[in-house]
Amino acid sequence: MNTENVDVLVIGAGPSGCVSASYLINNNINVKIVEKSKFPRYVIGESLLPRCMDHFEEVGLLDALKKQNYQVKKGARFLKGDNVCNFDFSKKFTEGWDWTWQVPRAHFDNILAEETQRKGVPIDFENEVIDVTFEGSNSKTSVKDKAGNIKFINAKYIIDASGYGRALPRLLNLIKPSTLPKHSSIFTITKDINRPKGDEGTLITFDIVDTQVWLWVIPFSDGTTSIGFVGPTDFINSYKGSPTERLKEMLKLSTYFYDRFKDAPYTFEPKIIQNFSTAVKQVYGQGYILTGNSGEFLDPVFSSGVTFATETGLLAAKMAAKIINNQTVDLEKEYVEPVQFGVDVFKSYVNEWYSENLQKVFFHRPENAEIKEKICAVLAGYVWDETNPFVKKHDRVIKSMAHLIDMEVEQRKKVANK
Ligand SMILES: Cc1cc2nc3c(=O)[nH]c(=O)nc-3n(C[C@H](O)[C@H](O)[C@H](O)COP(=O)(O)OP(=O)(O)OC[C@H]3O[C@@H](n4cnc5c(N)ncnc54)[C@H](O)[C@@H]3O)c2cc1C
Repeated sequence: MNTENVDVLVIGAGPSGCVSASYLINNNINVKIVEKSKFPRYVIGESLLPRCMDHFEEVGLLDALKKQNYQVKKGARFLKGDNVCNFDFSKKFTEGWDWTWQVPRAHFDNILAEETQRKGVPIDFENEVIDVTFEGSNSKTSVKDKAGNIKFINAKYIIDASGYGRALPRLLNLIKPSTLPKHSSIFTITKDINRPKGDEGTLITFDIVDTQVWLWVIPFSDGTTSIGFVGPTDFINSYKGSPTERLKEMLKLSTYFYDRFKDAPYTFEPKIIQNFSTAVKQVYGQGYILTGNSGEFLDPVFSSGVTFATETGLLAAKMAAKIINNQTVDLEKEYVEPVQFGVDVFKSYVNEWYSENLQKVFFHRPENAEIKEKICAVLAGYVWDETNPFVKKHDRVIKSMAHLIDMEVEQRKKVANK
């Protein structure tokens, strides 16, 4: 029988798994990754937030990424009709990175995985976790390779960073429905043959074609650009035909981008992810912890997915290291509470985005520079800085701002009608 023993088994070699495993190997912990796919492999999620640079730097993965000439992202632009709102990460309330990248994930994740291996972490590619049993916190994981052979891995602790695969949530029946509305997405990568020169061509943009429906445009340094629509599932499904026909038809909704992308060839048939928001009943149990998308995924509107994956991947690895070294850990206080706080902040912003309150704040003129800097810090991923009132009071501040804007607009109307 083919059986291996490790201290920590990491499931999945995405950003979350690579950050976790890199932290552990840096701290001399016996760790290995099993990864279902052969790398490089495509995955959605190409717009990063400055906050994740902290994580890559802390575990020693940043230098390898810096050599790749990825498209630098210094902020983000939101469009709605003739209204424009630009965020510049150098003008944000919280100290921290003021730039990051827009990355083709197949390439980016492959660099992360190669660098993680170079540090000494073995990664078994094309090996899928198919079962797990626990005896206390010791686990026995069944892994199937591409030839169908099964092997077993005994681990003292498991970090499940399996993303959309949600290995442990499926095996342990942890999945629960998200409280967010059912939204879906259709997307591809185009050869951006009509890309304008300069910043206009390379700026990441979110074009809000309707309060609930938006298009992302994420240019890469290799001349290709990721485009995708997000909207209510019923809306996405109301377009008929092949995925290419559906995406081409939807592009007509964007007066700003239609000409640029109408003839741009797609590098693959558009993919569709239905009802992408998910949640779990618990993010840890005896012998395991969930990170990144394996735990909770909200919505792509603020590009928080990878940053959340690396934030939780790093924190989970710190918890695992303590557990392996027999130190005391309070997972509720040290993992669940901070993770839940970050989720709650982003969730407030997602909810207020689709309620239109946040869109009102973004596009209200004249702009208030102080408010903008505080929101910008949230959009850069610094959602744990409670000195920022737009973090601390996340559940009410946007509503209050929108209410004030409504009153101001009402007042202006009254004055105009006099
Ligand atoms: C429409 C859409 C747009 C998005 N846009 C953005 C964006 O612009 N920016 C952003 O930051 N995020 C975005 N996201 C979110 C982003 O895709 C994820 O949050 C991010 O990829 C999560 O990283 P991860 O490391 O947790 O998982 P992943 O990157 O999914 O990696 C998990 C790995 O685990 C492996 N795996 C799965 N099951 C098993 C198994 N049973 N055994 C072994 N290995 C397994 C997989 O093959 C995979 O390689 C978007 C999401 C959606 C739905």
